[in-house]
Amino acid sequence: MKMRALVKHGAEVGLRLEEVDIPEPGPDDVLVRVHTTGVCGTDLHIYQWDEWAQSTVPTPMTIGHEFSGTIAAVGTNVSGFEVGELVGAEGHVVCGKCRNCLAGKRHLCQDTRGIGVDIPGAFADYVLVPKGNVWRHLSDLDPEIAALFDPFGNAVHTALKFPVLGEDILITGAGPIGLMATAVVKHAGARNVVVTDLNRYRLDLARQMGATRAVDIGVEDLRTVQAELGMLEGFDVALEVSGSPAAMQDILENTIHGANIAMLGIPATAYAIDWSVVIFNMLNIKGIYGREMFETWYKMNILIESGVDISPVVTHRLSASDFDDAFEAAASDESGKVLLRWGP
Ligand code: NAD
Ligand code: ZN
Repeated sequence: MKMRALVKHGAEVGLRLEEVDIPEPGPDDVLVRVHTTGVCGTDLHIYQWDEWAQSTVPTPMTIGHEFSGTIAAVGTNVSGFEVGELVGAEGHVVCGKCRNCLAGKRHLCQDTRGIGVDIPGAFADYVLVPKGNVWRHLSDLDPEIAALFDPFGNAVHTALKFPVLGEDILITGAGPIGLMATAVVKHAGARNVVVTDLNRYRLDLARQMGATRAVDIGVEDLRTVQAELGMLEGFDVALEVSGSPAAMQDILENTIHGANIAMLGIPATAYAIDWSVVIFNMLNIKGIYGREMFETWYKMNILIESGVDISPVVTHRLSASDFDDAFEAAASDESGKVLLRWGP
């Protein structure tokens, strides 16, 4: 039996939509009929075949890791999952043998493989997921929202790393993750939520997600914004979700002494900061990678059930066959999350 798959071939820009064999589930695998997938920055790097992608991704490779779908078949060792259930997957497949894995801290595994990066991914009609990575969704969840759970998890992990109730929060970067983090901290009781970006289209989305102020950082400065909001000593919590060195500088200059800073944005290259600010201001900086397995996933369910609406982050919905248009939209200045539809 054949299926469609979006495959990366080496030494070329772009992807090819091909007919390949539907994978057979091994004893510990779950075969998922893919419904909706999301295009992520990682997929753009692979599409464009930049230096990072060339040195990371073996080819040919079916890419994609943000998805929702229904169970089509389960391996002989799989119990507790039924055909037809709406599921997603934690995209980090861990080793299960290292110190952190054995201690139950799977998100800290040093030998993680990525679905759609190191092993075949979800931009296809079917994807195989190891049973330990399958996440069963609330049965009435919209499959489009379910398809956002990977980046939503990044947002939730970052946003809830530190207490936000009653705090003033600075979020640098209004990409899909910063936008979802905005809705989360607002819901969790933050006072002021100030979001910065250089992109007007995304700043508008930040307002829709509940930002107190969406700041075009190319035009406005945060000192003025703080004064306007009656803030006297700086932001209590900062979420760095842009990867930009300039944004980190904004954080260093606008946070209270003792501030909590969660960093998820990935810088393109190494950069310097003034460490004396970190020391004299006694800043607390925490790096964030992926989602906690599966604590973050439980929190996502609870946030959705208690009314967080992440749907405005989706700005484009295309059919899988229009993948080139989808990647173009995702790379443009006028998009939030771009979704590709596979299944019925
Ligand atoms: P994105 O690239 O779509 O969004 C980043 C946003 O930051 C853009 O809107 C951009 O205009 C904005 N920006 C650029 N310079 C800025 C500045 N000086 N101040 C404020 N904003 C600025 O990305 P996304 O999908 O939302 O992801 C956010 C970041 O998180 C990216 O760096 C991505 O690589 C990273 N990421 C990390 C993990 C992890 O596990 N650590 C997982 C997924 C994504
Ligand atoms: Zn491990």
